[in-house]
Amino acid sequence: MTALLRPEEIDRAAALLRAGELVAFPTETVYGLGADARNGRAVAAVFEAKGRPHFNPLICHYATAEAAFADVRPDERARALAAAFWPGPLSLVLPRRAECSVDLLAGAGLDTLAVRVPAHPLALDLLRRVDRPVAAPSANRSGRVSPTTAQDVVEELGRRIAAVLDGGPCPVGLESTVLDLTGAGAVLLRPGGVPVEAIEAAIGPVGRALPAERAAASATLRSPGLLVSHYAPALPLRLNATEVAPDEALLAFGPPLPGARLVWSLSDSGDLREAAARLFAGLRWLDAEAARRGGFRRIAAMPVPAHGLGLAINDRLARAAAPRPDDAAQG
Ligand code: AMP
Ligand code: MG
Repeated sequence: MTALLRPEEIDRAAALLRAGELVAFPTETVYGLGADARNGRAVAAVFEAKGRPHFNPLICHYATAEAAFADVRPDERARALAAAFWPGPLSLVLPRRAECSVDLLAGAGLDTLAVRVPAHPLALDLLRRVDRPVAAPSANRSGRVSPTTAQDVVEELGRRIAAVLDGGPCPVGLESTVLDLTGAGAVLLRPGGVPVEAIEAAIGPVGRALPAERAAASATLRSPGLLVSHYAPALPLRLNATEVAPDEALLAFGPPLPGARLVWSLSDSGDLREAAARLFAGLRWLDAEAARRGGFRRIAAMPVPAHGLGLAINDRLARAAAPRPDDAAQG
């Protein structure tokens, strides 16, 4: 049974998070489904609990701007916005630092990371006690509305999570504004609690990239691997491999196929949560190792069962395997 924790029991919530358990907590926007962002298995459990059929990058929550900026590289604009709106409902997408402590799965394998300092006193207190970044999407099942009370969360996620920290109803009830600062021009990825006009007053004009336009752009481009929201390895990927060629690196699930010269095992025992936690690190490692050793033309991926987290793993592998526009140029 999910524990409904009172604010006085906040230390228990912090201890559960540090132990890799999932704990929902109130923010000023909506209830977040929190996990230790440095723990890949805990992050995988978030996707599992939400029942998301794909991995999308999660926002990482911090107690202070200083802690956030230890994981990502802020520029002038980010510093100005943090000073003006943090703590508050504004998430900034910034480049990950090389030494970023957040697990790759939390950022869906990207070189960028969305960070924010929430304004809710209980959330801030929790983040201070956890003393680690906490990855937290809205605490609802995939495709359903975001919860604004602890009771909503229990109805949505019930037995799937260890605890809900009950801080009463969320004051904003609207998600955080998501702003991409990784390019020369700031781009609004999602309107939310901080109005874009207020952001423009602080840093000047902001480009709009509303979800409908982004979806349309991705359909036209037909290059999921190249879009900013998808990570894909440099080497082409072959799916559902049942044997492996000498010039193929192997992404294994379960006992590795015989004969592979370069292997990353997602999970020897066939555990989907472990596989999800090791997916992006594995694609990056195989890419880098194959380039370093030379003589590899492709990554062969063994089949992953299409249920639970396997759906999201297969979605990402299928995107990575899709033809890309520059394939022709590479001959
Ligand atoms: P949620 O976790 O449900 O609040 O949604 C998080 C939102 O932030 C989604 O729209 C994500 O696509 C977006 N987001 C998070 N991280 C990134 C990132 N690194 N790049 C682009 N968008 C991001
Ligand atoms: Mg959501």
